[in-house]
Amino acid sequence: MSNKVFELMQEMGHEQIVFCNDPHSKLKAIIAIHNTTLGPALGGTRMWKYNSDDEAVVDALRLSRGMTYKAAISGLNLGGGKAVIIGDPSLKGEALWRRYGKFVNSLNGKYITAEDVNTSASDMEFIHLETKHVTGIPEYMGGSGDPSPYTAYGVFVGMKACAFKRWGNDDLTGKKVMVQGVGHVGQYLVGHLVNAGAKVYITDINQERIKETIEKYKVEYVDPAQMLTIDIDIYAPCALGATVNSDTIPQLKCSIIAGAANNQLAEEKIHGRQLIDKGIIYAPDFLINAGGLVNVAAEASGSYNQEKVTKEVEKIYGRILDIFKLTEDENLTAQEAAMKIAQKRIDDIANIKSRL
Ligand code: NAD
Repeated sequence: MSNKVFELMQEMGHEQIVFCNDPHSKLKAIIAIHNTTLGPALGGTRMWKYNSDDEAVVDALRLSRGMTYKAAISGLNLGGGKAVIIGDPSLKGEALWRRYGKFVNSLNGKYITAEDVNTSASDMEFIHLETKHVTGIPEYMGGSGDPSPYTAYGVFVGMKACAFKRWGNDDLTGKKVMVQGVGHVGQYLVGHLVNAGAKVYITDINQERIKETIEKYKVEYVDPAQMLTIDIDIYAPCALGATVNSDTIPQLKCSIIAGAANNQLAEEKIHGRQLIDKGIIYAPDFLINAGGLVNVAAEASGSYNQEKVTKEVEKIYGRILDIFKLTEDENLTAQEAAMKIAQKRIDDIANIKSRL
C-alpha cells in the first residue's frame, strides 16, 4: 500500500493524510482530510479492529471523501475529513484520547473531530481537554451531545421522501421496514418508525442491543443470516458499509433502501445501476445520514439552536426529491445525482472565494 497512498489520494482527490503514532498510549490513528474548499474538514473518529493498516487507510480515505459531499449537499460551510483509530475499542481510555486530542490540535482547526462508530460523547470529553477542535461533546459541557438522534431523524424524514416517490404518499403505516443494526442511530430510527405505525423488523449481532430494542419497542427480531429472506418494503442499513453488493442485490426483497450507514454501495457505479435495474429506490447515504453532521456543525459554529437544527435536518426530504428528479432528467443513479449536486456547490463556492 505504501507506494500506492499517493495514487489513491490523487484518484479520490485528497489533500492530506496524517499518520499519528504513540507507543505509550498505544495510539495508531489516521486522519484523512479530503477537501477544505468549503471550510475546515469535519468528520468523526472511528475506532475499529482493522485487519491491516491498508484496510484502515482505505476506510479513512473513503469515509473522508463521503464527508466532503455530505457537507456540500447539506449546505454546510465545511470540508470533508475523517479519522480512524486502529485498535480494540474495549481498550480505549483517557491516555489514548488525550494523546489523540493533541494530534488533532496540531492541525490547528483544519480538521475538527466528533463521534463515529465505537466512539462516544464521553470520549470527546477527553479529546476536548487537549483541543477545542472537537464537537459532539456532552451537553453538560456546553456541547450538543450525541448526534445520533439527529442522524436517525434525518434518515426517517428521508425514508418518507422515498416512500412519497414510490407510493405517492409518505405514510409509513403498515410498511415493513428492516433495520439492520440497532446501535446509536438504529435505536432512534426504530422509535420513529414504530411511532409512524410501521411494522419494524430488527437484526443485529449484539445480544444486549437486540434485547433492549425488543423490550422497548416490541419489534420482531430476525437473525442476520435470515435477513435477506424476509419480504419487506424498506431496508434500512444502519450497521456498517458495503452491505449493498453483488451478493445481496439479487436477494433483496424491498422497494426502498434508506439507512444511516456510510458507503452502503460496495461499488457505487456498478451497484447503483443494479438497483435501478431491479426497481429499487436508493437514498444516497451521504445525503440521508447528514442529520448528525448538521447537528455537530451547529455546535461548531458556536451558536447552537435545537429548533433550527431540526428544521435544517428536515430539509433532507426536499433534497432527496430533488435528487430523484435529477436521476430522471439526466439518467443518473441516485448516488451520481447527489454527487453532481454536491460537486457543483463546491465548484460554485470555490469560484466565489477566488474573487475579490
Ligand atoms: P453503532 O456502532 O452504535 O451501531 C452499529 C450497530 O450495528 C451495532 O449495534 C452493531 O452490533 C451492529 N452490527 C454490526 N455488524 C452487524 C451485522 N453484520 N449485522 C447486523 N448488525 C450489525 O453505530 P451508529 O453510530 O449507530 O452508526 C451506524 C452507522 O451509521 C455507521 O455506519 C455509521 O458510520 C453511520 N453513521 C452514523 C452517524 C451517527 O450520528 N452516529 C452519522 C452518520 C452515519
